Amino acid sequence: MEFTQSDRLKKLPPYLFVELDRKKNEAIKRGVDVIDLGIGDPDIPTPAFIVEKMMEAVKNPSYHRYPSSNGMQSFREAAATFVKRRFGLDLDPDTEITAIIGSKEAIFHFPMAFLNPGDVVLVPTPGYPVYHIGTLFAGGQTYYLPLYEENGFLPDLDSIPQDILERAKILWLNYPNNPTAALATPEFFERVVSFAKQHKIIVCHDAAYSEMTFDGYKAPSFLETPGAMDVGLEFHSLSKTYNMTGWRIGFAVGNQELIRGLKTVKSNADSGQFEAIQAAAATALMSDQSCVEEMRKIYEERRNALVESLKGVGLNPPMPKATFYLWLKVPNGHTSQSFASLLLDEAGIVCTPGNGFGDPGEGFVRMALTVSKERMKEVGDRLRKVL
Ligand SMILES: *Cc1c(COP(=O)(O)O)cnc(C)c1O
Repeated sequence: MEFTQSDRLKKLPPYLFVELDRKKNEAIKRGVDVIDLGIGDPDIPTPAFIVEKMMEAVKNPSYHRYPSSNGMQSFREAAATFVKRRFGLDLDPDTEITAIIGSKEAIFHFPMAFLNPGDVVLVPTPGYPVYHIGTLFAGGQTYYLPLYEENGFLPDLDSIPQDILERAKILWLNYPNNPTAALATPEFFERVVSFAKQHKIIVCHDAAYSEMTFDGYKAPSFLETPGAMDVGLEFHSLSKTYNMTGWRIGFAVGNQELIRGLKTVKSNADSGQFEAIQAAAATALMSDQSCVEEMRKIYEERRNALVESLKGVGLNPPMPKATFYLWLKVPNGHTSQSFASLLLDEAGIVCTPGNGFGDPGEGFVRMALTVSKERMKEVGDRLRKVL
């Protein structure tokens, strides 16, 4: 029998890192001591108190049954307490919060609740690929909003043509931003709220890096913006904040109608996350957040070491205030791809070519702060021999 994949799968964007992955694996096989700045996954384990809570929770038979897909009451209450303490938001755990199986799951599923075939979704580029892929699977059309350095990597909402605005249903945003590490200002968020109201567009804010911030900077919640609860929702994840990428847990918060739509899709697609994981996650959210402060210190030191290394070889790196990424302009004469290849072939350093996150990412590479500060110093030593 022959099987033909759906048009949906055929339309998926090509995976642009194939060649780089192949080269990296080859280098590792040859015995090269690769410094991998390509991975957006914390290398540090989950804090012990969260793991201990999980070990205890897993023995509790009441957690062994089907969970409800919107999450346990106690988890949603912990999320409400977290957003109250952190952002001053007063949210109802029953109607304005739902548990999600990591934010990727919810980002993928959300458009199915509000999109009809042919509807347009506004997606920043370079950006996290799932905004486009969720649009595609829901039968929508992506209209890309390029993020340029001269605009602080914020989308230019005034540049969107009228016919697109009429068909647009959803706008995706992500600040602190992956991959550019850019921040949103409260003024930008205010502009977004009035734009959304004017054109009847749902705002989806991906806040995966809200806690991963440096130099005392505190990232705002989009929902702190006056009027934001009328137009949008926000996706929070425990993955980066508590080094819990493998656990698959997060929560979405915001407008009741929007949360209700997401819950309806989810209750038909999944049966929620294991309640023992929710119990451990609730402990993380209710904790004094000192583990997050420690995490920030570690990444800040790594960032400083990497920036120093790059400056030491004549590059001009930015000093990111958030996320664990450094979005570096490649030297003159290079493309994203040629520079990433040079670093790998000549220095055994893996980074991600910026064009892999979308065309306007051309001319940049993304370096992740997921290796130790000692290794970051070695990046400088190796680059000195190459550049
Ligand atoms: C890591 C990441 C996520 C996914 O987080 P999970 O909760 O682990 O699914 C979402 N958005 C962005 C921008 C990310 O970098």
